[in-house]
Amino acid sequence: MIHIPIVLYHRIGPPEEALGLRSIYVSPRAFAEQMAYLHRQGYTTLSPAQIPPILRGERKPPKRPIVLTFDDGSHTVYTSAFPVLDKNGLKAVVFIVAGLVGQISLWCNDKEAEPHRLMSWEELTELQKYGHYLESHTINHPWLSRLTPSKTREELDSSKKLLEDKLGRPVSSVAYPYGDYTREVIQITQEVGYQWACSTHIGNRHQPEDLFQLKRVLVGPDTSLSRFKYRLSGLYDLEYKLKDK
Ligand SMILES: [Zn+2]
Repeated sequence: MIHIPIVLYHRIGPPEEALGLRSIYVSPRAFAEQMAYLHRQGYTTLSPAQIPPILRGERKPPKRPIVLTFDDGSHTVYTSAFPVLDKNGLKAVVFIVAGLVGQISLWCNDKEAEPHRLMSWEELTELQKYGHYLESHTINHPWLSRLTPSKTREELDSSKKLLEDKLGRPVSSVAYPYGDYTREVIQITQEVGYQWACSTHIGNRHQPEDLFQLKRVLVGPDTSLSRFKYRLSGLYDLEYKLKDK
């Protein structure tokens, strides 16, 4: 088991202004506190390419490795997370809904949820220029387990190719929308050339055989700094493992 927290964020903004989807907001103040903490403690953010060899034990991880992931490509990543990450020398892995770049979050059809703006290609290009990584969150953000295998393949394959075409660098990972996947989805993910994938299972210690269903650390609007520190620790993983049984 290798201990690497893969933190999951969605939107950075005032939770009290969120309509419907409060749980996916982290306030700018809490986010700044969390990033400053990581910086002070000497955490090193990993690139997507570093993850498979480290998990397979082929390469030694740096001291205090961490992965900062953002699902969906919300414009708040650009406006509110990016400056803070940059200030603290941290790099993010942003999972982009490739078919909705520069548009709104069409998959949130809950009528309470406001249409939310997603980053444009120009914004993504700038993030990449500053060393952040743009990876896949499919084309349309579907429930992959509900699609036919050929539709699943298209979502995974075309999103990878579209991002690679537009951004000019290899895309090696995907986060399954809603954390929804099956054995068959994993198989297709591997076949179209991804090297690893994120689920939304909770935890921070990984085995090499879990490369296509990596666990993440959840951070929400009510996560205090002490709770955040705890979630980065090995105890968090243990707590969830005990609950699973
Ligand atoms: Zn998502």
